[in-house]
Amino acid sequence: MQPLLRVAIIGGGPGGLTLARLLQKHSVACTVFEKDKDRNSRQRGGSLDLHPQSGQRALREAGLWEHFNQHARREAETLRIFSPQGEKLLDESSGEGGRPEDFNDRPEIDRRDLRRILLDSLKEGTVKWNSRLSGIGEAADGKLHLEFADRTEKGFEVAIGADGAWSSVRSRVTEQKPLYSGIGGLECFISAADSRKPYLAERVGKGMCLTLGKERGIMAQTNSNGIQIYAFARIPEAWHTDGGIDLTAPEAKQHVIDALYPDWETTCQRLVLESDIETKARPLYMLPVDFEWSHNPRITLMGDAAHLMTPFAGVGVNVAMEDAMELCAAIIEARDKGTPVAGALREYEVKMWKRAHETAELNMMYQGLFFHERGGVAMVEHFEEQKRAEAHV
Ligand SMILES: Cc1cc2nc3c(=O)[nH]c(=O)nc-3n(C[C@H](O)[C@H](O)[C@H](O)COP(=O)(O)OP(=O)(O)OC[C@H]3O[C@@H](n4cnc5c(N)ncnc54)[C@H](O)[C@@H]3O)c2cc1C
Repeated sequence: MQPLLRVAIIGGGPGGLTLARLLQKHSVACTVFEKDKDRNSRQRGGSLDLHPQSGQRALREAGLWEHFNQHARREAETLRIFSPQGEKLLDESSGEGGRPEDFNDRPEIDRRDLRRILLDSLKEGTVKWNSRLSGIGEAADGKLHLEFADRTEKGFEVAIGADGAWSSVRSRVTEQKPLYSGIGGLECFISAADSRKPYLAERVGKGMCLTLGKERGIMAQTNSNGIQIYAFARIPEAWHTDGGIDLTAPEAKQHVIDALYPDWETTCQRLVLESDIETKARPLYMLPVDFEWSHNPRITLMGDAAHLMTPFAGVGVNVAMEDAMELCAAIIEARDKGTPVAGALREYEVKMWKRAHETAELNMMYQGLFFHERGGVAMVEHFEEQKRAEAHV
């Protein structure tokens, strides 16, 4: 008889919930500790495209493929790129049904739908809400205990930090903190855009619409219930506070347009100016591209906690879900062979670091294209070059 494992997963984002589902499918006992008050705490959060070999494969392995398909928006894969003067530089929505002609099989799903599908798949009581981890201790028998403001939870063999960008588990394995990426700005949303702002919905289309100028852009993405917008630029971390701008105040939108996009075409400016009242400051942070930590026999990290990147390669969720598959496979193998779980964690980390470093480098390349000196022209040239290279293979 193999020893029973008790796994604590800190963080109920897409990474932690996918891991919990996969472990439960293999009869490993696990609990997810999530700081959100309850499952309805977040209603928004953008759209995510899931890639065949990572996000999609994880959902197939989790037995959730059909559920995903009910919410997946395949037409949302399209990309449009405009210049700040409103010139259309690229439009992929010219294929059948508004799809790109060379469809990549990367359907989009709203973040809240993905979270709901994963939550509904877990055994009752798996997620302990309102549980913000503050520390991890170790008992004399080597078992871990988790500290929360109101209690201590004891008796775990393994703790997985799936607690995102500002991971508290990370501080148990490294002193490294996220670094400001040099990119930041404003996040806003236009709810029910199809009916309330049809001219803006028309501009954005069914997928992603980028207007890219010199080292700045306005990025709009159609979700199932509106348009998510980011006005991002190469700016110092304290750009808005130094300039006395409160990015959550109603006048923030006009400040941002006046300061960063004063001579941009009106329709693009309206994406920001006509968005809903609530706005958020969104400075973007990252871990170093080659980030690793010293192995710990019982504690590891996954997803953004392990390899926080800016979102410009659009892969963060996919990498987190791939981590979940690999970590689950390593834990199951150790359990079935009766070998120490420490070896499984080490094996997972070595593979994951290699994959994460490659992805982080790719992401930096895309970040360079999003905030290029020559604006969207540079990105269009990159795609054309990529197509030519593929045609020669
Ligand atoms: C603006 C923006 C746009 C993005 N767009 C895309 C995209 O299009 N495609 C894509 O693939 N990725 C995108 N990403 C990246 C993606 O959001 C992340 O990579 C992904 O969410 C990582 O998943 P995760 O489960 O590791 O962490 P998270 O999704 O961050 O989840 C972490 C969870 O841990 C919880 N938590 C945090 N601290 C604690 C604590 N102390 N105790 C308990 N719980 C805690 C949080 O509440 C949260 O639920 C984007 C990111 C940003 C910022």
